[in-house]
Amino acid sequence: MTANIGPFPKQDAMRIVIVGGVAGGMSAAARARRVDEHAEITVLEQGAYVSFANCGLPYHLSGEIAQRDDLLLHTPDSLAESLNLDVRTGHRVTGIDRNAQKVTIQSGDDTYLLPYDALLLSPGAVAVRPPIEGLEAVEALTARGLQVHLVELADQVLPPLDAELAPLLADELAAHGVDLRLGVSAQTVTPAGTMPVTMGGAIRESAKVRSPGAVTVTLSDGATLAADLVIVNVGVRPASALAVEAGLELGPTGAIQVDGDQRTSDPHIWAVGDAVEVTHAITGARIPVSLAGPANRQGRRAADSICGRRTTPQAAVLGTAIVRVFGLTAATTGANQATLRRAGIAHEVVHIHPGHHAGYYPGSEQVHLVASFAPDGTLLGAQGVGRAGVDKRIDILATAIRAGMSADDLAELELAYAPPYGSAKDPVNMLGFVAQNVLDATMPQWQAQDLDEAMATTLILDVRSRSEYAEGHLAGALNIPHLELRQKLDKVAESACGRTVSVHCTSGVRSYLATRVLLSEGFDARNLSGGWLTLKAFHPNL
Ligand SMILES: Cc1cc2nc3c(=O)[nH]c(=O)nc-3n(C[C@H](O)[C@H](O)[C@H](O)COP(=O)(O)OP(=O)(O)OC[C@H]3O[C@@H](n4cnc5c(N)ncnc54)[C@H](O)[C@@H]3O)c2cc1C
Repeated sequence: MTANIGPFPKQDAMRIVIVGGVAGGMSAAARARRVDEHAEITVLEQGAYVSFANCGLPYHLSGEIAQRDDLLLHTPDSLAESLNLDVRTGHRVTGIDRNAQKVTIQSGDDTYLLPYDALLLSPGAVAVRPPIEGLEAVEALTARGLQVHLVELADQVLPPLDAELAPLLADELAAHGVDLRLGVSAQTVTPAGTMPVTMGGAIRESAKVRSPGAVTVTLSDGATLAADLVIVNVGVRPASALAVEAGLELGPTGAIQVDGDQRTSDPHIWAVGDAVEVTHAITGARIPVSLAGPANRQGRRAADSICGRRTTPQAAVLGTAIVRVFGLTAATTGANQATLRRAGIAHEVVHIHPGHHAGYYPGSEQVHLVASFAPDGTLLGAQGVGRAGVDKRIDILATAIRAGMSADDLAELELAYAPPYGSAKDPVNMLGFVAQNVLDATMPQWQAQDLDEAMATTLILDVRSRSEYAEGHLAGALNIPHLELRQKLDKVAESACGRTVSVHCTSGVRSYLATRVLLSEGFDARNLSGGWLTLKAFHPNL
C-alpha cells in the first residue's frame, strides 16, 4: 500500500481577521494557529507594536526593567516565522461591513477592504489604565527620584480595597515622600502664561500633559500644586466604537455583549478583553473587567470557538488583582464589602493579622487579611495587604472562591508548611477558623464601623496589657488584661450593668479568648473583628 503522505492542498482555508494585536487578540491568533494549521490569520494593529507587555510598563518607568525592548515579546516577523501569522502594524480597522463580511482598513494614506469568515475584536479600552488606580505609576515616578503629589477624589487610595486596608497603603505612600491629597479633585491645570485648562471637576479625567515649564494644578479645596508633569488617570471605557458602528449589541455599561463562547450578536464576530462584558462571579452583574488574565483566556476560548472546537463555558470573573505599592503588596479577589452591600448580599466579614510564616522563624511579616462569607459559609471575597505572603494567600483564596469553597473548606485546606514558608495553621486556615466561629455563634463579633453604637450602648472592655492601653484607648473603656479576666468578672458585671460587653485587644486573638470566657459566664459579649489594628485603620484619628 502507498502511504497517503502530504503535501495536502489548502482547501477552503478559513479567513480569520483579528482587530488588536496585544493581550486578547494575540492570544486568539496564536491559539487559532495551534488548532488550525491552514487558516489564514491576519492580525490588524493600529499601533507600532504587537504582543507587548503593557503590564510591565510601570516597571520600565521605574527603571527596574531597564530596556524598553524587553517589553516587546514578539514582532510581526517573529510571529510570521513561528506561527505563520500575517501581522500588520500601523493598520487601523475603521469599519465593519457585516453583510459582505469585510473590514475597512486604514494604513497611512491607503484604505483597503479585507474579507473574513470569522472576525475577532480585541480593541481594548479607550484609555487603558492599571486595574488598581494607577499607583504603580506613582511608585515608578518616585523611584525615579521625582517628587510626586497624588490627588484622589475618593476619601481613600485604591477604592476597590476595603476602607480598613487602604490606610496601610496611604501610610506607605507618605513614608516614601508621596504627598497624598484625598477627597479632592483637580479643577484646573494652568500652563505658564496661558488660561486654565478645566479638568471637569474630577481627577479621573484623561489627559497627559507634559509642559515645557512648570504648571499649576488647582484642587477643589483651593490648594495649588506646582508640577512639571501631570498624569491624570481615567476610568476605563471599553473601546466599543467599532462595534457600535457595526450595530453589534452592547450591554448597559457600553461594553460589547458576548455569549459564553465570546461570540457577539453577529454569529461571524467574536469579541474579547477590555471591550467586552463579563459576568461578575459573586454579584452576577454584567460588567467590563480590564485585566490581562481574563483577556488572554477569552482570546483562547474565542479561537477554539472560531475553529469549531469544544469550548469550556466562560467562567464568571472574580476580578483578582494585585499591585505593589513600594514595600507593600495589596491584592483582592471576589467582591469587596462595598460591592456586597450595594448588591444586597448578606455576609459576615472577618479580619485577621497573622504572620506570613511561623513567628519564631526570622523575618515573619504581618499579613492583613479581610474575607467575607455568606451566611451558609461560602467565601465571597478576600483582600490582603502586607510586605510578604499576600500574593500566595490571595491566589489560594481566588481558587477557593472559584471552587465554591466555604469557611469549613478553608479550615481544612492542607497547605505546604515549613517555618520559612508558612505556619502549621496557615493564615488561610485561620480565616476559615475565625469564620466558622462567627457563623456558628461561637464568637459573636462587632465591626470597626459599629464603633459609635458600641461606645454609646455597650461596655467597651479592652483586654490588652496596661502598657498597650496607656499608649491609646477608647474613651470610657474598661481595661482588664485578658489573663486577669477570670478573677475580675465581678468588675465586668458591675461596669456592664446588663449591657453587652464589646471586647477588643490588638488583633482579635486575646479578645476572642476573653469573649469565650465572658459568654461561658453568662455575659452578652462580642469580639471586635480585627481588633485595635483594624479599628485604627478604619478610624485613623482615634
Ligand atoms: C500600564 C498598564 C499596566 C497594566 N498592568 C496590569 C497588570 O499588572 N495586571 C493585569 O491583569 N492587567 C494589567 N493591565 C491591563 C491589561 O493590560 C489589559 O486588561 C489587557 O491588555 C486587555 O487586553 P485587550 O486585548 O482587551 O486590549 P489591549 O491589550 O489593550 O490591546 C488592544 C489593542 O487593540 C488595538 N486597537 C484598538 N482599536 C483598533 C482598531 N480599530 N484597529 C486596529 N487596532 C486597534 C490597540 O492599539 C491595542 O494595541 C495593565 C494595563 C496597562 C496599560
